[in-house]
Amino acid sequence: MKILLLEHPRSVSAERCNDIANTPLSSCLLTGYAAGMLKQKGHDVEIVEGYLDGLSYEEIGRRVSAMRPDILGVHMVYHWGRDLTLFDFLEKIREERLTSHITAYGFYAAISYEDILKDCHAIDSVIVGEPEAPFAGLAGGASPGIYSTSVPGLAVRDGSGRISYREGKPVADLDSLPFPVRSDAMYRLPEVNLLGSRGCYGRCTFCYVNSFYGPGGPWRGRSPGNIVEEIDGIISERGVSDFYFTDPNFFGPGGKGQERALHLASLLKPRRIRFGIEGRVNDIHDQTISALVDAGLRHILIGLESGKDESLRRMNKMTTVSQNERALRILRKHGIEPNVGFIMFEPDSSLQDIRINFEFLKRNDLLKHLPVTANVLYHHQIVLKGTQAYHALKREGRLELSASSPYEGTAYFKNPEVADLAGIMKNVTNMLFNRMEGIWSGKVIAPPGIQEKYGEVNRLLVRLFEDNMRALEASGRDDDDRTAALIREIEKEIEGILN
Ligand code: SF4
Repeated sequence: MKILLLEHPRSVSAERCNDIANTPLSSCLLTGYAAGMLKQKGHDVEIVEGYLDGLSYEEIGRRVSAMRPDILGVHMVYHWGRDLTLFDFLEKIREERLTSHITAYGFYAAISYEDILKDCHAIDSVIVGEPEAPFAGLAGGASPGIYSTSVPGLAVRDGSGRISYREGKPVADLDSLPFPVRSDAMYRLPEVNLLGSRGCYGRCTFCYVNSFYGPGGPWRGRSPGNIVEEIDGIISERGVSDFYFTDPNFFGPGGKGQERALHLASLLKPRRIRFGIEGRVNDIHDQTISALVDAGLRHILIGLESGKDESLRRMNKMTTVSQNERALRILRKHGIEPNVGFIMFEPDSSLQDIRINFEFLKRNDLLKHLPVTANVLYHHQIVLKGTQAYHALKREGRLELSASSPYEGTAYFKNPEVADLAGIMKNVTNMLFNRMEGIWSGKVIAPPGIQEKYGEVNRLLVRLFEDNMRALEASGRDDDDRTAALIREIEKEIEGILN
């Protein structure tokens, strides 16, 4: 059977240029894993990298037309709003009869499968959760033009428009999966992405990683031997030495998770690679980090999220501020300055919470580097369908849902002063992220002397935050016109420094 897997073009919204929660990083290998499984089953598979290769829909249409796949699989990556261009494209493919079945997969598709099947009649089915087994079932059970509707993990719409779904099971033994197929575009990224584990044992209210994997899909790790076998293959085929583990949570739970990480470190060390990981602060331990650094660990993203225990409890983060500070100390002791996840503005934040967050960031030297400062001083909680926060806020009637984007809700801030400060910081930092996009994404070389300018803008942002927080604490909200004028003035000042 001929199967074309499409990574569709994604537009970047100027408003949301730095918001990272649109799709977990771990989804970047979903297409590769689906392709690996389908190839193992003997199917003829082609991946079209509409996003990474910057393809237009015209060009993608030509490729679909050239292959005329039996199944067109679309990896649906949410990008701030319903993608009507993609839906129109799929309708056209359907009208021209270029394929006999269109299925969607991915985080967005899994969580919004009912909306997608209702809104886009060109899509015949949606894979809910991990794609390998449902995709193999869909392709394996088909005879020309006829597809089984009873595949576990597949949601379908029948002739009367009724949507039905048979729950699938997450893969229990990840070592049993074929290695993912990587396109040339994937190899052009600065690091080769790997997936050493799936799911997370955490239950943060703002996260939808576990909703994607479904019940029965807690953290599952590949064996260190299986991971290293894949790495060895990549090194011998491509000669690369930079890798990134896209696992939402690199470490498994408890002592066993640490033992596994130590075992993996011992296998990675002789290979002399460099790699990055993402993890929870309660899994950062001196001995393990030391071994991982020795084995090539060079960067890590840790989810600090807040400087206040009560906020961490509210997010069900299952960590504490002292664990946050301990993790920072351990990582810095081993020469790693971490990237941090931080939610400065929660829907329930009080001004006092914001003050405590700010003091935490200052105390822990997290307001010294412009890209970090700009991130931590503006980040508000994003509320996506599939998260506990989405359902709770919806129940409380505090979520604004627009017809054009039912996947994401806008939560009202309980406190109007917090809303004002969040608005100022969002406007100013969005302008900065858009201005710096070329350099910070590595597409443009930074001009000489930029570091001093960064230092100046950094100080300006910290001052802006602190002065406005103090003014709101002392005398409450300001007039809207004066706030708008302040934002314009600061943006002009930033432009002046960077020019
Ligand atoms: S630690 Fe929380 S935010 Fe991170 S992957 Fe786990 S549940 Fe999601």
